[in-house]
Amino acid sequence: MRVCKKCGERKSINEFVKSKRGLYGRRYTCNKCRNKRAMDLYYKDHDRRLKEAKIYRERNKDKINERERKCKKQYRDKNREKLKQYFREYRTKNRERINKCKIEWLNKNPEARIRRRLYQLAYNNKPHVKERNKEYRKNHKEMEILSKKKYVNNNREKVRICGNKYMKRQIDEISDRYIKKLINQVYNLSKNDITQDLIESWRQTLINKRLIKSKRNEKISTS
Ligand SMILES: [Zn+2]
Repeated sequence: MRVCKKCGERKSINEFVKSKRGLYGRRYTCNKCRNKRAMDLYYKDHDRRLKEAKIYRERNKDKINERERKCKKQYRDKNREKLKQYFREYRTKNRERINKCKIEWLNKNPEARIRRRLYQLAYNNKPHVKERNKEYRKNHKEMEILSKKKYVNNNREKVRICGNKYMKRQIDEISDRYIKKLINQVYNLSKNDITQDLIESWRQTLINKRLIKSKRNEKISTS
């Protein structure tokens, strides 16, 4: 224990900084008092110091930036694994908040959304990424099915509208798929029994039917 010369309190010897000059190799004033004195000195001339610091920064901007850049890079290189781990944990802990921020930002910056989408498409089109995605899907089939189910469950209305749009396009184009569906409904034929010839003949019939219908509608509207 030692009594501080400044505040007069009795404190543990650890509260006094090591020094060759003091008694038993420690200073006479406690750390708290020393810190306070340093702060007082600093704030006594605070405005002048701030101004000086600002001028110094302005004059040595390039040097400071370069030094900071180097310092940061060095730190990153040294702590690569640690930082990776840290950010991974941070992302998992704050996933919801991060996603919310991201969505808000993208809503405010529509052109960024497009830019991001283009970047994603270009990235996914790279040969090695394509290969990797394919491999991943192959190894995670059941996960894909699950995620699809989850998506459909969470977006029922969207999926319904999308499905309707898709079906409408199929009908408009009289696609093979649509004809197959019709044949299956009427004759209950299996997929393999429906030949391309059969599809073509149905298509012709459907086209004729539509023609007749549109002619009839024209007559009704003009009469
Ligand atoms: Zn003290």
